[in-house]
Amino acid sequence: MIVCKFGGSSLADAGQIKKVKAILDSDERRTIAVVSAPGKRDSSDEKITDMLYECNALAGQNKSCRPVFDRIAERYLEIASALKLDAARLSAALDDVRQNIDAGRGLDYAASRGEYLSAQIVAAYLGWEFVDAADYIVINSDGTVNPLSYERLSARFAEGGHYVLPGFYGSNERGAVKIFSRGGSDISGAIAACAANAELYENWTDVSGIYAADPRIVKDAHVIDKITYIQVRELSDVGASVFHEEAIAPVIGKNIPINIRNTNRSGDPGTMISASTAVTGPVGVSAKGGYSKLKLRKLMMFKRPGMRHALLTMLHLYGVRPSFSLFGIDSIVWFFESRQASDSVLDAMVSRLKKDFQLDDVFYERGHAVLGIVGGAMDESTAFVDACQALRSSGVRINFVNYGSSNSTTLIGVRDEDARKAVELVYRALF
Ligand code: ASP
Repeated sequence: MIVCKFGGSSLADAGQIKKVKAILDSDERRTIAVVSAPGKRDSSDEKITDMLYECNALAGQNKSCRPVFDRIAERYLEIASALKLDAARLSAALDDVRQNIDAGRGLDYAASRGEYLSAQIVAAYLGWEFVDAADYIVINSDGTVNPLSYERLSARFAEGGHYVLPGFYGSNERGAVKIFSRGGSDISGAIAACAANAELYENWTDVSGIYAADPRIVKDAHVIDKITYIQVRELSDVGASVFHEEAIAPVIGKNIPINIRNTNRSGDPGTMISASTAVTGPVGVSAKGGYSKLKLRKLMMFKRPGMRHALLTMLHLYGVRPSFSLFGIDSIVWFFESRQASDSVLDAMVSRLKKDFQLDDVFYERGHAVLGIVGGAMDESTAFVDACQALRSSGVRINFVNYGSSNSTTLIGVRDEDARKAVELVYRALF
């Protein structure tokens, strides 16, 4: 049995939904569909979920959400009419949702209705059963998935029918609708795959898989054919975005492979994500900007017991949580995400550090990026050396390297302004 999740672009209009049906019909193992809300039809279009956020904001100002909601209703009704579905039933459901948003049901309810309505339409069009995620998936207050969700969904799917499950939401412990973070339908798909004990989790989107480098930077970047769960997480950690990183957890335990596929090119094999691939060497490269560097120096700094811990505690007080550390004999360099603290907060932190720890020198610097090369047995590959050579020979300054801490990722620190160029250079050097 295969669980298929379809993203917003695959449900953006009636034409796309017809493609979804053709995909589902072409393999009888595809019996569970998890759907997103309709996404953009073209680059100037609006996503239904974004409009629902706007509706909720209007309701929060005690204004009617009608001006925005009418555009939402129009899109759903247009889809329903093109698919020859019962418009009266849909209109009633839309009215109900609008009234509830206006009555102040809150953000989670409002945002979730995109998927709710989308799943109703797809279920009616396919003649499959609609399964409301709010009745089955329980999301704990810390955002984790309550194990009860798997039991409940598993029992429902064991009835052996064909089901459409809306993505992106479930309910909280008290039964009220609760959403995942944005892009969270990937997580719902993974939960469904785990609950159904699926042989495969297909994630249908508008690209033919995970690219070895961002195609907006490297125009001719190729699609990765095989990659491991861990490598996908590591790639998304350095900025690559195709698959929600939290969506790996539910399937990893059961070893269910994930196949990223393209609804608009259903013949493309896509990217297969599984526990191991036997691929050695680099698989993908990505870079993420928006880091700052903090450097501290004090003679014999590490002779004082607990110094590092005390410094980190002070950083935490100012909201700074370093992502990478480098240690010298008398110095420490920490890289952290720039958005964690404003200049004025950092100025205050630096003077406090200097005074409390009698540092010889301490300063921070904005504008850093981290480039990650992800692959298999990276510690045995020459990728790191080749990448550094390519960067150096083109004059890209390397600020730090992290090699050997993970055998699937090598990190290279560069300046923010060099990040795109660095991705292109490293891609050309390695692939
Ligand atoms: N519709 C939601 C969003 O736009 C969830 C999803 O599509 O995965 O974030």
